Amino acid sequence: MTAYDPTFEPVIGLEVHVQLATRTKLFCGCANAYGAEANTQICQVCTGQPGVLPVLNEQALRLAIRAGLALHCSVPEKTKFDRKNYFYPDLPKGYQISQFDQPLNVGGGLEILGDDGALRTISIVRAHLEEDAGKTIHPDGMGFSLVDLNRSSIPLLEIVSGPDLRSAAEAHRYLDRLKNVLRYARASECDMEKGSLRCDVNVSVRRKGDPKFGTRVEVKNVNSFKNVERAIEFEILRQIELVKSGGTVVQQTRQWRDAEGATVAMRSKEEAHDYRYFPEPDLPTFTITRAFVDAVRAELPEMPDARRARYVGALSVSEAAADTLVAERDTADYYDRCLELGKGLDPKELANFVLGSVLAVANERGISAADVPLRPETLVEVVRLVAGNTISSQAARMKLLPAILETGKSAAVLVKELGLEQVSDRGAIEAIAAEVIAANAKAVGEFRAGKDNAINALVGNVMKASKGKANPNLAREILLELLARG
Ligand SMILES: [Zn+2]
Repeated sequence: MTAYDPTFEPVIGLEVHVQLATRTKLFCGCANAYGAEANTQICQVCTGQPGVLPVLNEQALRLAIRAGLALHCSVPEKTKFDRKNYFYPDLPKGYQISQFDQPLNVGGGLEILGDDGALRTISIVRAHLEEDAGKTIHPDGMGFSLVDLNRSSIPLLEIVSGPDLRSAAEAHRYLDRLKNVLRYARASECDMEKGSLRCDVNVSVRRKGDPKFGTRVEVKNVNSFKNVERAIEFEILRQIELVKSGGTVVQQTRQWRDAEGATVAMRSKEEAHDYRYFPEPDLPTFTITRAFVDAVRAELPEMPDARRARYVGALSVSEAAADTLVAERDTADYYDRCLELGKGLDPKELANFVLGSVLAVANERGISAADVPLRPETLVEVVRLVAGNTISSQAARMKLLPAILETGKSAAVLVKELGLEQVSDRGAIEAIAAEVIAANAKAVGEFRAGKDNAINALVGNVMKASKGKANPNLAREILLELLARG
């Protein structure tokens, strides 16, 4: 964090656009899918041909409300669409259908950890539906530009925070939480690289204690959470220096230039009246019934904070493990399914296996826990084999689970095929332990001289001699007995 004059206070608000995870676009039946060849997912409606009419996508409305409810917004009974007029090559209609004075969701909040270490609620002023614009492409060194309208009219939710953030780090934490919550709600993928989450940043500065806000500057389309932080830090310093040297901050839109690590002026900031908003005449005002909102609310899963609290509180899972388990809903859902199937098993042990053998594979392959070809049923079966002392935990991790992933065979079959059954037969282990003691005079001598750790080397040798099949706790017990006998 860059240091700045502490008599000043930054004031930050974020406007985040997320693409909603619908199958089709907001007002037509064209596919909402990323990565298709340019201009292959378009029709008369989303390219703004004369005489066409928009039809609202109910699933988009549903996902937008689901996201709003996850952000603790309320949903007013009436919602309406408006035309936001501006001219740009990627906007064939000459206007965007958006929402002006009657947005779908209002008055929510998102809890984040403040810089002072205390939880703080960042207000969400509104979260409204609108359609995306197309994309202009400027091929390098060519004298022309291209337009791709596949993105045109994809449903967006614009989530506007209050001016409640006070540092770049807080803004970053807000974005992390927002992404986490929206992904849990399955409202959006929130993948910045695919453009399904985009962020505009509003920054102003004021003297500490001044009740009035300073003039704000908007930084557009910053392309990563890290760069949101950098752009905010740059603006805080720039504005404070400007004010201190007797200048005034001008209300404007700026652009973040990654390579230069700086923002540069793009244009003076538009006011709402510059867009000549007026009600969309081709769509009615919609009435959102309580029954519809309640039905959408019932689709929301248990949210990450609640799950984390349950794992740490009722299940005694460590905070670090709980954080990793709830970071993605697929991982948490996987763990919850294991808990359900593995009644009577130690939740901490189950968590270790989910993190060590499922999430690790998911990360390695770049997939989600739900797509790892190891079902919770199978994992629980393996953990039961460990809990019942049929196989050692080490054999489960290092041999059995990798073999299941590789061959798809059942745990029971592989335990036999690989000869993984743990030896818990006292006689067999005693015989091996006696040999190990005879062959390791040095470790035995050290143990007798009071070096307790030396027993670990002896247990290790018993494990090795048994090809990893001895029950390690029993091996330790038997070694101690034999050594005590002299
Ligand atoms: Zn279309």
